[in-house]
Amino acid sequence: MQFTNTLAFAQQQDQEDELQHFRNEFLIPKHEGKEITYLCGNSLGLQPKNTRQFINEQLDYWEKYGVEGWFDGEQPWLAYHHEISDLLAPILGAKPIEVTCMNNLTINLHLLMVSFYQPKGKKYKILMEGGAFPSDQYAIESQVKFRGYNADDAIIEVFPRAGEETLRTEDILEKINKHKKELALILFGGINYYTGQVFDMKTITKAGHDIGALVGFDLAHAAGNVPVQLHNWEVDFACWCSYKYMNSSPGGISGIFVHEKHFEADLPRFAGWWGYQLDKRFKMDKGFVPEKGAEGWQVSTSPILMMAAHKASLKVFEKAGFANMRAKSIRLTGFLEFLIQQVNEALGEEFFKIITPKNPEERGCQLSLICKQDGKLIFDALVKQQIIGDWREPNVIRVSPVPLYNTFKDVFAFADALLEISLKLKPTN
Ligand SMILES: *Cc1c(COP(=O)(O)O)cnc(C)c1O
Repeated sequence: MQFTNTLAFAQQQDQEDELQHFRNEFLIPKHEGKEITYLCGNSLGLQPKNTRQFINEQLDYWEKYGVEGWFDGEQPWLAYHHEISDLLAPILGAKPIEVTCMNNLTINLHLLMVSFYQPKGKKYKILMEGGAFPSDQYAIESQVKFRGYNADDAIIEVFPRAGEETLRTEDILEKINKHKKELALILFGGINYYTGQVFDMKTITKAGHDIGALVGFDLAHAAGNVPVQLHNWEVDFACWCSYKYMNSSPGGISGIFVHEKHFEADLPRFAGWWGYQLDKRFKMDKGFVPEKGAEGWQVSTSPILMMAAHKASLKVFEKAGFANMRAKSIRLTGFLEFLIQQVNEALGEEFFKIITPKNPEERGCQLSLICKQDGKLIFDALVKQQIIGDWREPNVIRVSPVPLYNTFKDVFAFADALLEISLKLKPTN
């Protein structure tokens, strides 16, 4: 792909962009009347304009029907999540019956580990990425302890080689092989939150199955960002949040995937009435009988307002087409990478080191930059100019242009400010 380091080039790219008009379907935050440059979809996606309408609709039904809203009216709440499964399935490469939405992400990690972490005899260990998102570390650590193991012994982490920032698939496979007699579960992120690296989920899944382990993924940074084929890759389970790339409200509802090969197995689970067979749920009988599919893992009554926000955003995804979004995303992040390299050239050194892989297949929207020095100062100066990425300790700036509402001009504005700020800092070095 050929890029040019000019505003005119960025504007021309925006004009030629088929998804350009989707920006109008979002509420872009403003500062003193001017739209800010928001590059933080990796943390909280922006609000689609239709979210308010979707939520208001449910408030109206609540007003009109009261409790009968569960069974009556235009969209009975009892089945409200079914359309969400249909909308999620193509984004996750799953069958609709394999996905559902419920709870929040870390809760779902716990619930799925109850079912899919099945330690037996010598096979009781869990393999995970080193430097995983803290909530995942805490969840896995506490699950292992809950089953009576010592976390230091039962959790095996894979780290990058010395001097490298990201993991090599060969090193992951080697670790799997080395511990093949001990591993019960492999639980990885789909994308590491810090580096933005996409892991080779297909290969990891196969390697895990070859040694008799189950394999699951936390797709917090992958869902709605990069294509995945959970069904075809035969991933056992996965979960994700909807508030990052899926724009479904702060702390919005999470999603889970369970491969259909597990539907007939009598897996252990922490059950609740919302996972009970739907047609018999209100008989209030004794003895839990799960609904078939991922829905059988639901525990509590559907939070309809959160689901409405999720549905609103997924409707925008459906209209845009996920393949189109990904194609634009590759160009947009490619442009960002090109411009950061140009900034480095202008500074006469690799002042901003991109630790995210270069290969578009191994990354999504996000690039993670390590600043040679003054990282936090530079980040704060960007924020002051209303250019919003995020800062992750100890030393990374994450920037994520997303295809639905970001423009090539946004990316240009970021790089332009980055150079200006760095040049101002330089003389004091
Ligand atoms: C964002 C994120 C979480 C957050 O979990 P919540 O339960 O939604 O607070 C967990 N894990 C990963 C990998 C994340 O990126």
